Amino acid sequence: MKFASTRGAADALGFSGAVMEGLASDGGLFVPETLPDTSCKLESWRGLPYPKLCFEFLRLFADDIPASDLEKIVDLSYKKFDDAQIAPLSKLDEKTYLLELYHGPTLAFKDFALQFLGNLYEYLLEKSGRVINVLGATSGDTGSAAINGLLGKKNVSVFILYPDGRVSPLQERQMACTGAQNVFPIAINGTFDDAQAIVKELFARLDFKKQWSLAAVNSINLARILAQCVYYIYAYLKLPKEIAPSAKFVVPTGNFGNILAGWLAHKMGMPARGFCVATNQNDILYRLFKTGRYEIGKVEPSYAPSMDIQVSSNFERFIYFAENKNTAKVREIMSAFKSTGKWIFSSFNPDAFSSTRCGDSSIKNNIRLVFEKYGKIIDPHTACGFEELDGGVNVVLSTAHPAKFPEVIKSAISAEAKSPILEELKTRRIERLECKADADLIKQIIEKRGIRK
Ligand SMILES: *Cc1c(COP(=O)(O)O)cnc(C)c1O
Repeated sequence: MKFASTRGAADALGFSGAVMEGLASDGGLFVPETLPDTSCKLESWRGLPYPKLCFEFLRLFADDIPASDLEKIVDLSYKKFDDAQIAPLSKLDEKTYLLELYHGPTLAFKDFALQFLGNLYEYLLEKSGRVINVLGATSGDTGSAAINGLLGKKNVSVFILYPDGRVSPLQERQMACTGAQNVFPIAINGTFDDAQAIVKELFARLDFKKQWSLAAVNSINLARILAQCVYYIYAYLKLPKEIAPSAKFVVPTGNFGNILAGWLAHKMGMPARGFCVATNQNDILYRLFKTGRYEIGKVEPSYAPSMDIQVSSNFERFIYFAENKNTAKVREIMSAFKSTGKWIFSSFNPDAFSSTRCGDSSIKNNIRLVFEKYGKIIDPHTACGFEELDGGVNVVLSTAHPAKFPEVIKSAISAEAKSPILEELKTRRIERLECKADADLIKQIIEKRGIRK
């Protein structure tokens, strides 16, 4: 299968090429040239263990990797999950289900994609005889999931910059207590924006970038989206047969990667009643789906920090399909949005999407209500999904383990969430580098510790 750019000005690539490139050369995102129809396969997939289902789905796309290799890569990617179901679907009442996506090693749904991506990178690098130095900045969660996906991988070194003292102590431990030799968490004396600016500057030094094969971790990699389609299909197949087609998936949303994957699974033949874009107070997508106006606002820090963004990088993929693959139109919209911070759709068709918005006080309230009603502790991101459930069958995606957010939980309810993984982390030694917020100093660190062929 070939993967085309949403902006239409780059060559289509095979699966491996698109994964290694990340971003297309015209600045667009890779999308499958044609979406396979899985509707005739769904029944034969019923009852498969999660990794097997994942393999059966991904082989429809990754046809340039021998099937037996792909199966090994997939199997390995779900080994570090602490629940045999990988993505257990728990029933709260007759019409409300919780899809638990927090059983991976960093206790958030990003593990589903980043564990797979890490193994895929290792495999493709080995085959091509290449090495990469991954460089990224994080304000908390993505960094730990990326690190965990890449730790101990051959031919990869990882440098993750974060603002010293401004990520939570648990988040720092998730990055700095891995014990891996190829991972370098770097505490920067500055803000997240300073860290981000250094990363941008080093990527812009093209000679340096080339010499050290710098690679990015970002939420737009094609492999991440495809790996995330799988748990929607898994949940669909776990639901009672008579209600499964009428389920609406409610998805706590930031960069639009998670929910886009569900919608793509739907376009490929998985029945669903719809997809609810559940935002926090950073509500650019909520406003879009209510009014057709896509207009950037100011990022306001919330209790659900992994959703604190205004520009949703994966949204371009939705625009591509919504505009019937008219790549000239996608270019026009993206370029207008980049220069003016807005785009007003003249006739906006939300397709299967609806949307809700959840402020901080509602986040706490929803944590309390769900605990009182069902005895289940949910995290602040998942709480956004409980904002406005309609009367139909709803599957709320639970994107993080509540133990990652002890303060908010404590202020909402009297119970406490615990995770053995996080408890164990507290006993380990922190190993981190410290550095002034200066691109040249970071460059020196990479030159000293990076990997080279
Ligand atoms: C990343 C993240 C989100 C948002 O997911 P997107 O794919 O960016 O929409 C929601 N919840 C948690 C816990 C996350 O880490």
